[in-house]
Amino acid sequence: KQTNGETAGSPSLDIAVVGAGIIGVITALGLLHAGHNVTVYERANDYFEVGAAMAFTGVARECMQQLNPSVLEALQRVGEANRHPMNRYWDGFNPATKDVAQSEQSLLFQQSARELDYTGCLRSIFLREMAKALPDGIVKFGKALESYSEEAEGVELRFADGSIAQADAVFACDGIHSKARRLLLGEDNPASRPSFTHKVAYRAIIPIADAVNALGEDKANNQCAHLGPDAHALSFPVAQWTLSNIFIFLHDPKPWPDPHKMTLEVEKSEVIPALSKWGPGIRELVEKLPKKVFKWAIFDMADNPADTFARGRVALVGDAAHASSPFHGAGACMGVEDALVLISVLEKALSNTSGLSKAQAVTAALQAYSAVRLERSQWLVSSSRDMGEIYQWRYSATGSDPAKIKAEIESRSRKIWDYDVDQMVAEAKQECERRLKL
Ligand code: FAD
Repeated sequence: KQTNGETAGSPSLDIAVVGAGIIGVITALGLLHAGHNVTVYERANDYFEVGAAMAFTGVARECMQQLNPSVLEALQRVGEANRHPMNRYWDGFNPATKDVAQSEQSLLFQQSARELDYTGCLRSIFLREMAKALPDGIVKFGKALESYSEEAEGVELRFADGSIAQADAVFACDGIHSKARRLLLGEDNPASRPSFTHKVAYRAIIPIADAVNALGEDKANNQCAHLGPDAHALSFPVAQWTLSNIFIFLHDPKPWPDPHKMTLEVEKSEVIPALSKWGPGIRELVEKLPKKVFKWAIFDMADNPADTFARGRVALVGDAAHASSPFHGAGACMGVEDALVLISVLEKALSNTSGLSKAQAVTAALQAYSAVRLERSQWLVSSSRDMGEIYQWRYSATGSDPAKIKAEIESRSRKIWDYDVDQMVAEAKQECERRLKL
């Protein structure tokens, strides 16, 4: 049963979570499980419906289990693993004839799907499924954070509707355009704003039969990456193999015109010229897209990483701390790891008996969180950018050489999957211990 701050034996805090996205809800569920009082403040009037598909690694699922088993249970109810035991990467550009394009001959290389061990889901469905485990009234909708200040008795949060709230600590999970990041790092700090990666994504959902016509049974019914010059395509079945989710990523050397508007509905015809010389499978896939598709500008924090994720009793979590491009498919996984580290260091700090005030203990915990999360999460952001270049044959060390691309992707992916969650938690607690003594 979920409680709000009633777990026996552990001192609890009043914590404000800003943002009810994937990471905000996971963080709130983790905090509740650890016995804290939680209020989530969300700008929108309901859970934000992003229809995109996303996947979580085995490492992220282990963190979910430790944070609160109800998070993993929700994912297991709505998620599904790839049917095929291998993640396969195909040549989308060559060859020119369709029969060959659908055959094994266009397979560049494959990797075992076991290690990254993804469970995929539709973001909005997972979010709502998890949210069912939150006690009623915990999420306050229509609350856009505008400013905060640290007072002796706690952090005061001020919202756009004029209301005010108080908390012992604030965990800002307000996403890539985080207001809390700007407040914490300063408006003039370049790290306060994400920058354009020069990649755009076109996304659409089509009937699986159309994907089968374009790509063949095998490719359409499994996750499938098609690589090529200056573009790549990712397709996978969703909704119990009835629909296919298609992403087409293009390199775009021009600046993005409007940093405040990052998604546009555009005519499908906009995509066609970039892929007109590609193999027939991909050309046909583009033909099957609806007339209007969603175009996304991909922004991230690789150009200007933050030098800290925490000041005082306020911490940035998930995309607010380290928004990434999607090419590793692990941006949210980093946020799940963040949440587990945060809750572990809080537990350590609250069990300290060194006579520190609550505010000092929380500050030490959040500094420990920042110190242990910076390197790995920011590596992911920068490596994900490289992955976009690798997929699009633009990375000079790998070019279009399948063996080199495979080796590069494997060594980078290993850093994501070869990760010991218990060790992460132990190191975070040690760092917290050290900071409590400073
Ligand atoms: P968000 O989901 O952006 O949530 C932020 C919330 O804060 C929103 O609800 C927003 O309304 C609210 N908010 C904003 N400002 C305020 C404010 N001032 N006050 C109050 N509330 C506010 N990651 C993976 O791990 N695996 C994948 O397969 C994967 N695929 C991806 C594919 C694509 C195309 C993209 C773009 C990303 C992908 N990612 C993936 C990354 C993943 O989507 C993000 O890392 C994740 O959604 C971030 O979650 P979040 O909760 O930090 O932020």
